[in-house]
Amino acid sequence: MKIEKSKSLFERANNSIPGGVNSPVRAFKAVGGDPLFIKSAKGAHLYDEDGNKYIELINSWGPMILGHANELIEEAVQKSLSNSFSFGAPTKAEVEMAELITQMVPSIEKVRMVNSGTEATMSAVRLARGYTGRNKIIKFEGCYHGHGDSFLIAAGSGVATMGSPDSPGVTQGTANDTLTAPYNNLESVVKLLEQNKDQVAAIILEPVAGNMGCVLPKEGFLEGLRKLCDENGIVLIFDEVMTGFRLAKGGAQEVFNVKPDMTTLGKIIGGGMPVGAYGGKKEIMDFVSPSGPVYQAGTLSGNPIAMAAGLAMLNYLNDHPEVYSQIAKATEDIEKGYQDTLKKLGKPYTINRIGSMISLFFTNKKVTNFEEAKSCDTQLFGKYFRQMLNNGIYLAPSQFETLFISTSITADIVGQIVSANERSLKVV
Ligand code: PMP
Repeated sequence: MKIEKSKSLFERANNSIPGGVNSPVRAFKAVGGDPLFIKSAKGAHLYDEDGNKYIELINSWGPMILGHANELIEEAVQKSLSNSFSFGAPTKAEVEMAELITQMVPSIEKVRMVNSGTEATMSAVRLARGYTGRNKIIKFEGCYHGHGDSFLIAAGSGVATMGSPDSPGVTQGTANDTLTAPYNNLESVVKLLEQNKDQVAAIILEPVAGNMGCVLPKEGFLEGLRKLCDENGIVLIFDEVMTGFRLAKGGAQEVFNVKPDMTTLGKIIGGGMPVGAYGGKKEIMDFVSPSGPVYQAGTLSGNPIAMAAGLAMLNYLNDHPEVYSQIAKATEDIEKGYQDTLKKLGKPYTINRIGSMISLFFTNKKVTNFEEAKSCDTQLFGKYFRQMLNNGIYLAPSQFETLFISTSITADIVGQIVSANERSLKVV
């Protein structure tokens, strides 16, 4: 595989961009080798600057549920473009977006648009603090909620990949206000609440974790957190930046039938454009400025082009619920294929899957929390990643990420993925 153009762009990038990338995991540090510079994508395929073609299993880290450059979304964006790109003033599309989100996710009674998942979680936590008059939050080890100061404690995703679980630059004061517990461990949350009585404003979590690889909530975990929050006057926040509109129309909260007080959403609602949102109970959301005292704002919030793209995709998902069984079936077929291969090769690795999210963990242990995820052989994952790339499959460049399957992954492509996986596992 020739990657001269990517190599030379990376060299240039390193002179003017820290680490050569605008988001750390992209640098391929955890898997070795130089990152690929992507030129275009269509449907299930990605093309790099050297003209190599890959089957795409990241999908911009989730949002491309309908595959790349989907015509519906493209058309909506083109139509919106001629009306100019930003006004910083209210638009009809924002109202339509808020109405659609509140319809699809019933626990969200009011919603505020922002520009990224990071902004959504930062704003949600500030609001929970303002609403409860308390300072502390509880998050879970291995969950990633963007790069807000409060969340860079025992975080997953790139923070875990880069081996810097606690970032310099986060003040001790901020760190003191973030309490952490192991995922899927209710008892440790009970203990934290006993030690910090009437001080916890919010419990935030990914209801299905995607940032330590795909990790599912154990039976009773989400329900238990709901009960603890009710008993202690705590705001329960589901960070559905990855799971919202992906696992079901109403996200993981619909699948597991547990209603949070607030929900954070991200890239998916923009169909790939830079967007985020936070929403929840009216009573809480009305604490946000200008209806309430908690300040939060954004010049580009509700950007018309992003709204056009997002509305096109969400309306499609709302009208075509069969999409969810389609992408779940494709992912299930990948899982079955992988299981057959593991059995055939006598490799005892672990696969976690829910709907269209799947991770292959290089460990023989069950993976139900970050500690277990960290038992994976990350060196081996790096080798596997590079083999998969050579076999034309573009995976997330870290063990601590999940794969996302789009509607463009046909049965034929599933076959190609499964066979590339077998060829790669044989070599590593
Ligand atoms: N929350 C979760 C669950 C995420 O997965 C991410 C990013 N993948 C974020 C928040 C942060 O979103 P962004 O990168 O758009 O700031």
